[in-house]
Amino acid sequence: MMQEETHISLKPYNTFGIEVQADKLVHIQTLEQLKELIRSGAFTSGPFLILGGGSNVLFTKDVKGLVVRNELKGIEVLREDDSYVWVKAMGGEVWHEFVLWSIERNFGGIENLSLIPGTVGAAPMQNIGAYGVEIKDTFDSLEALDLKTGALKVFSQTDCKFGYRESIFKNEVKGSYFIASVTFKLHKHPVFNNSYGAIQQVLEQNGVKELSIKAISDAVIAIRSSKLPNPAVIGNAGSFFKNPEIDITHFNTLKEQYPSIVGYPTSPGKIKVAAGWLIEQCGWKGKRVGNTGSHKDQALVLVNYGGVKGEEVYQLAETIKKSVADKFGIHIQTEVNII
Ligand SMILES: Cc1cc2nc3c(=O)[nH]c(=O)nc-3n(C[C@H](O)[C@H](O)[C@H](O)COP(=O)(O)OP(=O)(O)OC[C@H]3O[C@@H](n4cnc5c(N)ncnc54)[C@H](O)[C@@H]3O)c2cc1C
Repeated sequence: MMQEETHISLKPYNTFGIEVQADKLVHIQTLEQLKELIRSGAFTSGPFLILGGGSNVLFTKDVKGLVVRNELKGIEVLREDDSYVWVKAMGGEVWHEFVLWSIERNFGGIENLSLIPGTVGAAPMQNIGAYGVEIKDTFDSLEALDLKTGALKVFSQTDCKFGYRESIFKNEVKGSYFIASVTFKLHKHPVFNNSYGAIQQVLEQNGVKELSIKAISDAVIAIRSSKLPNPAVIGNAGSFFKNPEIDITHFNTLKEQYPSIVGYPTSPGKIKVAAGWLIEQCGWKGKRVGNTGSHKDQALVLVNYGGVKGEEVYQLAETIKKSVADKFGIHIQTEVNII
């Protein structure tokens, strides 16, 4: 039996802790339930929203129609060779639990992505990334159900068109598929990625002599726990904005005026600029506006001090965007999905 609720609060289902109502919420625990829902025409007869952990959404109004929560569980080793193991995880698995599962077995490649909230199924949506690693680096393929026909389609790495916090699922085929499972190609002989951010420093503090994926994961967990506001304590959806990419000529001009500007080259002639730095320079870091604001330690993270309306957070985000555009001529974009 499919679990269904009507006129239900979505507050427990979004890490921002925004109070909105859904007309109907359905919990999907088996592929058969999902297929049945597709056959019933639920995705063609009216508005719908697929939800994982709700850690990358901002609800600005009540959600009309159907909310479908992905609770598909299961992790399976498909095959292996001397170097790699192919692991399929169902979309409703909690991402961090999947990371820990892999670390326990010494399957490497996703340890730098420890403690990112949300589900496995949402991870390809924006090609989640942290500490120099993105899921595209270990992604093999995913299975998604066509919401019109119910047909199962396999998307390869190339099909997904991964980019920085981007994929085909946020663009060309937005709203057309339910990501049911993701297969990763993990390393049996881990390749360590410990050069990014404070990882090396924490490894030294922890007295780590022999590098392991567990040691890296522990370091990432320690850094994230000390730096990022915990949604269980203060509502948020992580980085609210993406780091913008600008032309090197624009960057060099800004650098003359603001020598401390933070940026690094991506492709030829392009520089990715730290959005947090831009926002901080506009005076927003730690600034509270009503029950929302930019976090005191992380300018990029907008927070809910309690009882905020999504619309207020959205308005603040728009004001921040405008001030960055006015001061630097850079148009920053939101990373969080505005619903
Ligand atoms: C404290 C904090 C820190 C974070 N740090 C990072 C970070 O370091 N790096 C990073 O990349 N992100 C980060 N995030 C953002 C977030 O964790 C990721 O984007 C995560 O992948 C979202 O997963 P979710 O299951 O919560 O997705 P949701 O918020 O539920 O959904 C996100 C979007 O994907 C769609 N969607 C979800 N599941 C499916 C599916 N199965 N099929 C089709 N569409 C689907 C939804 O409709 C929505 O548009 C952070 C968030 C928080 C709160």
